[in-house]
Amino acid sequence: MNIRFTQPALTGNEMEYIRQAMNRGRLMGNGEFTQRCQQWLEQMLGCRKALLTHSCTAALEMGAILSNAGPGDEVIMPSFTFVSTANAFVLRGATPVFVDVDPVNLNLDTKLVATAVTQRTKAIVPVHYAGVPCRMDEIVKIAKDCGAVVVEDAAQSLLSIYKGRHAGTFGQLAAISFHETKNVVSGEGGALIINDESLLERAEIIWEKGTNRSKFFRGEVDKYTWVDVGSSFLPSELVAAFLLAQLDSARDITRRRLLLWNQYADRLKPLFDDGVLRGPRIPAGVKHNAHIFFVITRTADEASRLLVKMKEQDINAVHHYVPLHSSPAGRRYGRMHGSLINTEELSDRLIRLPLWSDMTPRMIDHVVALIFQLFRI
Ligand SMILES: *Cc1c(COP(=O)(O)O)cnc(C)c1O
Repeated sequence: MNIRFTQPALTGNEMEYIRQAMNRGRLMGNGEFTQRCQQWLEQMLGCRKALLTHSCTAALEMGAILSNAGPGDEVIMPSFTFVSTANAFVLRGATPVFVDVDPVNLNLDTKLVATAVTQRTKAIVPVHYAGVPCRMDEIVKIAKDCGAVVVEDAAQSLLSIYKGRHAGTFGQLAAISFHETKNVVSGEGGALIINDESLLERAEIIWEKGTNRSKFFRGEVDKYTWVDVGSSFLPSELVAAFLLAQLDSARDITRRRLLLWNQYADRLKPLFDDGVLRGPRIPAGVKHNAHIFFVITRTADEASRLLVKMKEQDINAVHHYVPLHSSPAGRRYGRMHGSLINTEELSDRLIRLPLWSDMTPRMIDHVVALIFQLFRI
């Protein structure tokens, strides 16, 4: 049985909304569908403002501009993350400071974050890996004490909850992804979440290519002009139309993924209990969105053998991630804070299993059976 690693969940209304956008004859960004997507995010998450972007990478770049991080400034982030977390700040000339992750939730180790702060710390970028939120109360406190901006990399955590509040609503800013590999998708897509009212006006300007066009649209100025740095960060209305159909189904998509995620956890429990493998651990006070199901093997060799075995059987599973601190660009542009032993071990031993909302329970059992064959107990 061939099992894909990921596959977008199509909900049925995408074509209808795209057709409506076409019929309106207004395809550039910031039209009705963009605004409806933004309202959905604002209401669902409970944030001050959402601005759709053409990717989460773009939203992180806006976050980097808004945090005023520049040459000589440091930005604390995990090394166990996707490149965009770091690139957004490197583009501004700032230095990523890579901090190790907590082996339980695979997110920034908050004790180490506190010791990584220097006078040059400008921002902290917690990443909610696998849709499991970071310990945001501690991170927000550390940032407050040192005057740093918190930009949450919430790429993977749409609809995840930490202590009763949505991931993406704790930092001054947060970035969400709608990339095809995420839970809710538009092919490429993202959003910048703005929780700090004082950053809103500048965020809109940066979003609109450095102009005050948003004010012009609202009738607050009678012509618009270049007022700040900015770029082309908006998605087209066609993309927003597709995304709105996805957002309409976001809760249903998440519910279906959670059922499959729980099936993996349940079936693999004997291997976890025997210490042969480790699975995700969801801390108390957290509701996750079933973005990723992974297993962690005891050795790097076992992880390689598991991947080979899956490949032979046409099951697509993958390693996650090559740590940024050991990558060529990470070494050039960033620096390590102490040893990053947990990050290195995870990178050698963590395998992401196939997970998408239209998988069948039979497919999950098929993947699990193969894992049992290899790690027979
Ligand atoms: C997917 C992802 C991104 C990038 O998202 P794009 O929408 O593809 O730009 C950034 N950070 C993390 C942690 C991600 O998982």
